[in-house]
Amino acid sequence: MVAPGIKIDTSLVEGLTEAMDKGVVCSNYTDPEHTWEVLKNFKGGTALFTQPSTPIKCGGAPQKIMYLADDHFRKSGVRQKTKVVFATPGGVIFGVKPIAKTLMEVINRKDINVRYSHKLVKVDGDKRIAWYEITKDVKVGGCILLEDKTSKKDVDETINYNPKKVETVKDNNLIGIKFDMLHLAPPQSAPDFIKNSPLANDSGWISVDIGTMQHTKYLNVFGLGDAAALPTAKTGAAIRKQVPIVVENIIRLAKSEELSPNKYNGYSSCPLVTGYGKMVLAEFDYDSNFTPDQN
Ligand SMILES: Cc1cc2nc3c(=O)[nH]c(=O)nc-3n(C[C@H](O)[C@H](O)[C@H](O)COP(=O)(O)OP(=O)(O)OC[C@H]3O[C@@H](n4cnc5c(N)ncnc54)[C@H](O)[C@@H]3O)c2cc1C
Repeated sequence: MVAPGIKIDTSLVEGLTEAMDKGVVCSNYTDPEHTWEVLKNFKGGTALFTQPSTPIKCGGAPQKIMYLADDHFRKSGVRQKTKVVFATPGGVIFGVKPIAKTLMEVINRKDINVRYSHKLVKVDGDKRIAWYEITKDVKVGGCILLEDKTSKKDVDETINYNPKKVETVKDNNLIGIKFDMLHLAPPQSAPDFIKNSPLANDSGWISVDIGTMQHTKYLNVFGLGDAAALPTAKTGAAIRKQVPIVVENIIRLAKSEELSPNKYNGYSSCPLVTGYGKMVLAEFDYDSNFTPDQN
């Protein structure tokens, strides 16, 4: 059973390794205590929240901290002199329609500027600029939560939703957003020893059947969790539903029986904290159906 998790790879965005967790650049993925320091010291300006175009664990986490930060800024009295911006490579706020509807209400209530189709390519920590390529191809290795699978359109036409006057700079085809604090989810990939092994598919993830988690080539191997090539959000909640299927199948194989008819349906969930004491529990399957869990 192979479940080695995911690798945080700051080298995939130019300048990020140098900028990460220093000054006003922070991430709950690597140093949440530094995030808290940045939020406490923030005196107003542009608070930029963003995420990469690679798959990441808990695709909702880059939003959760933004909603909490907004609440904190209201408490600390700096919200009125702050523009909160969410720059995302995707074309929707969330890939599950009923959840997206609720989250857009939160975005409106909190007066957040959402910039879609923004693929983070460079971070200049010293000059406090996040550089983006504007791309409508939301499937470039993107996070599953950012795709609207039910829509024929690839991307929302409103690239700049609820626009705010934020200082931007241009360099050829790149747009730089100047920030006074930046929270980001760093780019992520499968661990190298998986990527460089025969277990990997072309994208580096463990190549498994999406219903049984059995390896597509080595039938005595099962892969699960963040490192597995499962087209759903990478969460602990997903693993909770993968494990019983894998265990049942291993027991059956040990007895030389057929694999179980029970299949993993892609269940994953994301508790999207929308403020202090408030949360939307997004639960969904491979087809982005909203699937509240009964167990
Ligand atoms: C900020 C943040 C918020 C999140 N919020 C949620 C949430 O609200 N709900 C939710 O369900 N999920 C959430 N997640 C995601 C969740 O934490 C992960 O999806 C989950 O931990 C993945 O489990 P895993 O077992 O695949 O990998 P991991 O938890 O990373 O475990 C992998 C283990 O394998 C070990 N390992 C790696 N390589 C080797 C090796 N060669 N030999 C031996 N051991 C090895 C590692 O040391 C590690 O202990 C969040 C994640 C983050 C970062």
